[in-house]
Amino acid sequence: MGKISRGEFLGLTVAGGFGLGLPGRGGQAAAQTAGSGSGRPGFVGLNAKVYTVDERQPRAEAFAVKNGRFIAVGSNSDVKNLVTQGLEGIDAAGMTVTPGFIDAHCHPANGGAQEIVSVNLDLRSIEDLKKALRLRAEHTPPGEWVQGYKYDDTKYKDGRQITITDLDEAAPNHPVYVSHRGGHIYWYNNKAFQLAGVTADTADPHGGKIYKENGKLTGKVAETANNLWSKIRPSGSTREQRQEGVKVISEQMTASGLTSVHDASASVDAVMAYQDAYHAGEMKFRVYLMCSGTGDGFAGMKAAGIYTGMGNEYLRIGGIKFVGDGACSGRTMYMRTPYAGRPDDFGILRMTQKEIDDAVEDAHRHNFQVGIHANGDAIIDMVLKGFERAQKNWPRPNTRHRIEHCTLVDADLIRRIKALGAIPTMFWTYVYYHGDKWAEYGEEKLKWMFCHKSMLDAGVPTPGASDYVPGPFEPMMAIQSMVTRKDFLGKTWGANQKVTVDEALKIGTYWGAYASFEENVKGTITAGQYADFVILGSDPHDVDPDTIKDIKIVRTVIGGKTVHLMT
Ligand SMILES: [Zn+2]
Repeated sequence: MGKISRGEFLGLTVAGGFGLGLPGRGGQAAAQTAGSGSGRPGFVGLNAKVYTVDERQPRAEAFAVKNGRFIAVGSNSDVKNLVTQGLEGIDAAGMTVTPGFIDAHCHPANGGAQEIVSVNLDLRSIEDLKKALRLRAEHTPPGEWVQGYKYDDTKYKDGRQITITDLDEAAPNHPVYVSHRGGHIYWYNNKAFQLAGVTADTADPHGGKIYKENGKLTGKVAETANNLWSKIRPSGSTREQRQEGVKVISEQMTASGLTSVHDASASVDAVMAYQDAYHAGEMKFRVYLMCSGTGDGFAGMKAAGIYTGMGNEYLRIGGIKFVGDGACSGRTMYMRTPYAGRPDDFGILRMTQKEIDDAVEDAHRHNFQVGIHANGDAIIDMVLKGFERAQKNWPRPNTRHRIEHCTLVDADLIRRIKALGAIPTMFWTYVYYHGDKWAEYGEEKLKWMFCHKSMLDAGVPTPGASDYVPGPFEPMMAIQSMVTRKDFLGKTWGANQKVTVDEALKIGTYWGAYASFEENVKGTITAGQYADFVILGSDPHDVDPDTIKDIKIVRTVIGGKTVHLMT
């Protein structure tokens, strides 16, 4: 055996032999591409604490990796002999290893582009926000826009929202625009108000609000009032910026332990950004593309005869995505019963039953997986009707149609989801991160919201999903959120939906792979699967559940290749 040390396991800096000749899963080796790590030297990890998420062998001590795949998983004695057959042995010294995590609904290309063109204001004080905007202004020619995103007043220590004065102090010579993490609310400085010709005397547009105090602008505007700036604010990003965005976001997401992501509404620009970054060798994660059903891409794919599954192990065409109702954190999802304290407010419906039926029929009959954004129980019922109708009239095996978010359900909806073989992609960091918003639903509804436990108990495929940018993507926060059902202030919401750490691990790995028809190649630590795994700084089974989110991601490995190493 070669030199064995914990440091080496963390570093995986080994040179290994070739030609081991051990079989992987039948037929899969032939499907490997250059991107999978063919020809890369392999290694054997020994004395590890491996949670495989494979029920045939849930725990293991050792595993071997070659050509980008696990080739053996088992006890030290099972796997040790491979060391003498040309693979380097590395002592894991009891480190915890899990499969790489999969985020089954997020918006990385969009988030990445924003990261490039905007200032990330996921900070904790207004002083820090001003500092960040000032720094960007110093590197921006006077008169050009300074934009900030991911500002969330509930996470700031100041106990107040930002004002026009704060933004003027940060950048008096630039128009400034700041958007709230949850969308819907925005802030501008004086320069920006002047450019738009909006004053304290401007009337509120229909469906929007310009906030004033003592007759003066506060800087805050809501909903459609933001459109008063739409012609003068820079829109979007360049192709180069979007490619750079994929590079940066894939670095951030893999550093959190994610190895695969499902882009839940990829635009044509996003598809190109992933391709550009992938071909430049800059994209670190694997991507499953849910293409927008209302954009040009869907029509083009249908015309070209493309359907779900085309692509390679790094970039694959997934389902077609539609949006049926409002937002969960925005408190606009479409429900059968009203919001707490708002007896006439049932939320916002964005598709009629006929529109849902037609959309599902079209994508279903063109051999696509269908994913419809549906948060409230009323819209989930409508989406299920659409799926049931398509399946009855044009039966297809193994469709795995998806209900994106699937936030509020009941026993009968779960029964219908199970009967269809449909997949709910429920928010997995929301209980923890957005806890301050749940009072508007009330505890009774929370027992049926983000129902990870009920879905698992009913045998429904249950992947994890962040919806990043609106929700944080860190899988360790997600596991804590699902295991404790506590928000960031310590309040518990819907304790009946708590899951075990093992169930949370399966949600974050195997079920994510299942949602993209890839459970036979990833999502578990099993011989033959891609060697996508994570080394954790502590075992989430052992730490105080309220601290799981603080567990360090020591290393992230995709296809046997290290993509993140803790510094
Ligand atoms: Zn989304």
